[in-house]
Amino acid sequence: MIEFLHVFKSYGQEKNILADITFQVTAGEFVFVAGPSGAGKSTLLKLIAGLEPASRGSIQVNGQRLDKLSARAKPYLRRAVGVILQDTHLLYDRSAIDNVLLPLSVTGLPMSTAKSRARAALEKVGLSQKEQANPITLSGGEQQRLAIARAIVNRPAILIADEPTANLDAETAQRIMSVFRDFNRVGVTTLIASHDEALMAQHATRCLRITQRHFADSASSENRQ
Ligand code: ADP
Ligand code: ADP
Repeated sequence: MIEFLHVFKSYGQEKNILADITFQVTAGEFVFVAGPSGAGKSTLLKLIAGLEPASRGSIQVNGQRLDKLSARAKPYLRRAVGVILQDTHLLYDRSAIDNVLLPLSVTGLPMSTAKSRARAALEKVGLSQKEQANPITLSGGEQQRLAIARAIVNRPAILIADEPTANLDAETAQRIMSVFRDFNRVGVTTLIASHDEALMAQHATRCLRITQRHFADSASSENRQ
């Protein structure tokens, strides 16, 4: 589902933020990307989402080499990968449901179909009552769930989230995590960046750990590499 082979990433003078990263994630896995602030977790997720290019190495997502994506294939990749970045990029000039409708606007679906899909997405994250609310009036946890609804409305095969529980109280963080577990249970491959060790231990699962110039895969003792 996702494969990194000897991937390096530099930003201009910022050399080798990621250096020689190799791992595979198979369909249906639930994986944490761990590491201290600045380690490169967001960068790793952005590479998977195709929001940043790798500097070296090969990345395959959903059966496609990202460096060889044709212009025609790009929109399909966008739909295959649902992205929840740290800045949720919610639009405050429109309602919650209109935010969820945005990714559907380019698909050419009839409005009635789009609306019922958006409502289904809001229902999955428990925000049915808030569809007409402006996101600015929502709590941090609700905004995070709205961003999840927007990311899943296209029914992506892969869901990636960057620190989705940061700045949330423990109870709200648990609710957000259970939303992700629900999607994973129905087969969505899920990657979550976090520096919350307690949260990750509790959801004990595979962990890709990035630290300064070092990469470890909790599954690599089984020789996953
Ligand atoms: P994390 O998510 O683990 O906090 P990031 O991937 O956000 O780490 O950042 C890793 C390093 O890359 C940091 O030193 C950061 O300053 C640098 N970095 C991230 N994005 C850019 C960018 N667009 N241009 C230059 N440096 C960047
Ligand atoms: P940068 O790394 O340059 O700050 P961003 O990560 O903010 O870029 O966003 C890159 C692109 O992806 C932008 O065009 C933005 O509109 C889009 N984008 C950001 N978040 C999402 C999301 N959750 N779902 C879909 N597209 C998004």
